[in-house]
Amino acid sequence: MSSLNTDKPPAAPAAAETKSRLPKPSSMYMSTGLDVWTMMNQIAASVNAVNLGQGYMSFPPKEFIKKAAQNTFAESTHNQYAPPRGRPALLGQLGARFTEKLGRPIDPNSEVSVHAGANEALLSVFTAFLEHCKGHEVILMEPAFDQYTPNIIMAGGKPVYVPLRVHPNKNPSENVISSKDWKLDINELESAVNENTRILVLNTPHNPVGKVFTREELEAIGAVAERHNLLIVSDEVYEHLTYDVEHVSIATLPGMWDRTITVGSAGKLFGVTGWRVGWAVGPEELIKPTLSAHTRIVFTSNTPLQEGIAASLKQAKENDFFNIQRQEYQCRRDRLTAIFDDVGLPYVAPDGAYYLLANASSIRIPQDYDFPQFIEERGDNFKLVYFFTKEFGVSGIPPTEFYSDAHKNLAKDYIRFAFCKTDKELEEAKRCLQKLKEYLKANPS
Ligand code: GLN
Repeated sequence: MSSLNTDKPPAAPAAAETKSRLPKPSSMYMSTGLDVWTMMNQIAASVNAVNLGQGYMSFPPKEFIKKAAQNTFAESTHNQYAPPRGRPALLGQLGARFTEKLGRPIDPNSEVSVHAGANEALLSVFTAFLEHCKGHEVILMEPAFDQYTPNIIMAGGKPVYVPLRVHPNKNPSENVISSKDWKLDINELESAVNENTRILVLNTPHNPVGKVFTREELEAIGAVAERHNLLIVSDEVYEHLTYDVEHVSIATLPGMWDRTITVGSAGKLFGVTGWRVGWAVGPEELIKPTLSAHTRIVFTSNTPLQEGIAASLKQAKENDFFNIQRQEYQCRRDRLTAIFDDVGLPYVAPDGAYYLLANASSIRIPQDYDFPQFIEERGDNFKLVYFFTKEFGVSGIPPTEFYSDAHKNLAKDYIRFAFCKTDKELEEAKRCLQKLKEYLKANPS
């Protein structure tokens, strides 16, 4: 049968039929929903809000960092593939930095790998140490940065969640509490381990709580990993941002080096999150498979900015950059906490990183407030952040996005604000949030 000689073209299939004939994506990517970062940026832009949502720096990197990147393109080899492990200049700098930080000689040619951001370093580790269809499990402490879960699933693993808990005699909806008050119950952690557990993910300083795990806490976590022979993946991308507390790398504790991969980020270290350069550091036996996975995922990370980071690391010491940067962030943190102290909204005072969780349980949303469908379907915490952004002109991130469904209620009253922002924006946030004072008075909880 042919329709070639007929006058009329064949009827187009009905819309529904066309749709059902389209190639089908994997169920994991079927949803067309926006990621939380894009969604919240769009909402912030729609009302021209001060954007304290996504954790990117709204100020430029220091001049010596920008220059280091600009200069790199002149060298012709800097425009070609890097070796999968990383550019020798960057590996050398990282070897020196981690020799000092971890207090042991680090061989840059076997114990370091460079990645397309810390995120890809994590994906490479999960890919290297998990197998599909074997039931391998990975323990995450909630709140857990939203990329961990999909990265684990892509690598064939199953995330298992253990939430940090606030001591019951603290009332975070009425008082400022410390990030130290968010604690891991070691028995709860250990009871989540079974014969399928392969990896335990740690994040210190912690996003979004700002908790910096103490040596004692890390020793207890390390003991669990040792008892059950787990790999520890320690996400330490905020290691340089701690405020009057000590940052301890779990890899420095006795017996821990052999089972730990420490992940870091140039984006966070130098305020250049768009450069997408990160790294993994650990013993050769752990870095070798990580590097093999990385080679198959992206092959190499970009060459010129690896060179830019190498040159920046070299100059950072001479410029006392990390101390100055830490002081600058501490001022930003203090500015933001002063704003919430003034308006009377309690929060979790962070010891590290650049986020603050404000407790907004005293905010009453009018019953008839109009929420778009895409917010309504994401639950109360998204509604709270949407309302806050629209009404007060300052945007944040709903931290329930960092929880599994079973534990989302633990974060429903919080809004995460990032303080890696300019003084001008923080000043503007202060001005906008004056409205909150009247609002809170008018709405006693
Ligand atoms: N790490 C940053 C944050 O938590 C950026 C996250 C992202 O954009 N995926 O805000």
